[in-house]
Amino acid sequence: MSETVQARLIEAGVPSLAELHALDAKQQPTYRDPAALGDVVDRLRVLPPLVFAAECDSLRAKMASVAAGEAFFLQGGDCAETFAGVTAQNISGKLRTLLSMAVVLTYAAQVPIVKVGRMAGQYAKPRSSDDETRGGVTLPAYRGDAVNGFDFTPASRIPDPERLLGVYHASAATLNLTRAFMTGGFAHLRSVHSWNADFVQSAAGVQYQQLADDIDRALAFMVACGIDEDTFRTVDFYSSHEALLLEYEHALTRVDSRTGNPYGTSGHFLWIGERTRQLEGPHVELMSRMHNPIGIKLGPSTTADVALALADRIDPDHVDGRITFITRMGAGKIREVLPELVAKVTASGRRVAWVSDPMHGNTFESRNGYKTRAFSDVMDELNGFFDVHEELGTWPGGVHVELTGDDVTECVGGSDEIVEADLVNRYETLCDPRLNRNQSLELAFLVAERLTS
Ligand code: PEP
Ligand code: MN
Repeated sequence: MSETVQARLIEAGVPSLAELHALDAKQQPTYRDPAALGDVVDRLRVLPPLVFAAECDSLRAKMASVAAGEAFFLQGGDCAETFAGVTAQNISGKLRTLLSMAVVLTYAAQVPIVKVGRMAGQYAKPRSSDDETRGGVTLPAYRGDAVNGFDFTPASRIPDPERLLGVYHASAATLNLTRAFMTGGFAHLRSVHSWNADFVQSAAGVQYQQLADDIDRALAFMVACGIDEDTFRTVDFYSSHEALLLEYEHALTRVDSRTGNPYGTSGHFLWIGERTRQLEGPHVELMSRMHNPIGIKLGPSTTADVALALADRIDPDHVDGRITFITRMGAGKIREVLPELVAKVTASGRRVAWVSDPMHGNTFESRNGYKTRAFSDVMDELNGFFDVHEELGTWPGGVHVELTGDDVTECVGGSDEIVEADLVNRYETLCDPRLNRNQSLELAFLVAERLTS
């Protein structure tokens, strides 16, 4: 069975795993038992796809409207999902945060919002160091629940290929609940009040409830005019993650029976991280074969030539909506680095969606030892992103943020004025610090202001 699947992949032009590994694969786990890994890959190959090719096509069409300046992209979720985090409460918390942000942006900015979760697959992390040292003990770094355990013990840090099946099942459970929420009534625009009913005490919460009142009135008006209320009942929502682990992504590549084209079916939107986007590397090679919309992270050292070479390599045919550049420059660098990048890419005639990740260039260690980010730096980078696009007359296509639906204290600042001493209260991330629900809503209101001004 697995041989048939692989033969189909080869026929569709997808390189083998051996060919990919020969391209100097970065950020991959060192598995101890290749036979056990091979067995897991074979089992994954015959499991049903998590997403359908036609859904990826719809998202690609939406990304084309983002690139054309007709829609805005909102992508958010945990830095690293965890298996323990696959609970109804946790998933619905993230979904209602994203839906609330989308409603703020749609209502205030009056543009369609393309909604994508960093969810249902975001289980593998690139690391800046292969090891981690605590109290004089050095162990392999935690690379996400897809690879090893977070517990700081030698046994837990050994990469275990069985975890890849765990990723598949955790993603399936998350997608199942997400699909139910998006089409089963939870996402109905009439529920807009209930998504944040428990949060009204905050400044962003009060502003949100006022907006929800306005939406209620607008909805009642439209229904009175005879517009079918069913139009507001469901929402298109997509999943995304960093396509990092070659075995997992390759094992979930499927050839679409309609077209004969390969798709990554581990998620709708797949992105290549800043650390694995080498032009001749295996991640770029594999993603170049996929027909999904593809994101490419671009850090502060990226030149326009590199960005264009990546786009040409991944999307030689200039397919509308295929390429999204996710810039993560840092608040101090964006105004200096982004203009030339956007200007040269635009001048080349290539149309891409430009998205700002204002998180990854703004991480620092607090004096009390937490990896954190300041809300003001996040907003500063976002404002820089909007300023640059405004000056060039190009479209600031969207935002990519790390967030959670919970009241965590991982990023400092925001209207709740979280300070470094508060970080200890609810610091729950296993990787990068996330915006909490209030900070996320606040960010949405500030972005909406930029989109309307
Ligand atoms: C991330 O998005 O969590 C990440 C690791 O980003 P980057 O590749 O931009 O550093
Ligand atoms: Mn991160």
